[in-house]
Amino acid sequence: MSQLDALIVKVDDRLANPGDMLSLNGHIDQKSFSLGDHDFTLPKGIDYDLVLTNAGEGILVTGIVKAQADGVCDRCLDPAHLDLSGEVDEYFLFEEPQKVYEDEADEEEGVDFSLVSDDETIDVADAVLAALLMETPYIVLCREDCKGLCPTCGTNLNEEDCGCAATREEQQILEGPFAALGTLDLND
Ligand SMILES: [Zn+2]
Ligand SMILES: [Zn+2]
Repeated sequence: MSQLDALIVKVDDRLANPGDMLSLNGHIDQKSFSLGDHDFTLPKGIDYDLVLTNAGEGILVTGIVKAQADGVCDRCLDPAHLDLSGEVDEYFLFEEPQKVYEDEADEEEGVDFSLVSDDETIDVADAVLAALLMETPYIVLCREDCKGLCPTCGTNLNEEDCGCAATREEQQILEGPFAALGTLDLND
């Protein structure tokens, strides 16, 4: 269930021989994507700048994917803006590799690779999306030092100091283990 539409590239004469390279850049008019519980909108879609290389046994796809993603800050719930720039590194083999040995447990742990389709095309959409997801943080913040919301009154502490934190500290001192010292009358 890919979030991106297929991005099919024909492996044609330009990539016929080992060492042949093909630049591929463009724009995907993708509106959004999600990672875990986070949804992001992509006001400017996704830009990619890739190089396809015939590496002998397959097509190596490398390059950069860029997108501006808008989400919601986990701490203060204000909009959070992310500038994402991810690296693509994907290998599409011409043929499924011969298995050197049979291992029944191999299915899930096997090396991840893609294949060039029988119609001599590759779909680089998953590689583009993976590059973006790699760069997307699991904790989304509007800014690195976001102060978040006051747990007592809900004020956005980036915008104003509601004073609750100071009150809490005072209370902790009053109720803390040394509180009794404050009430001792040392002159008596
Ligand atoms: Zn925030
Ligand atoms: Zn407060």
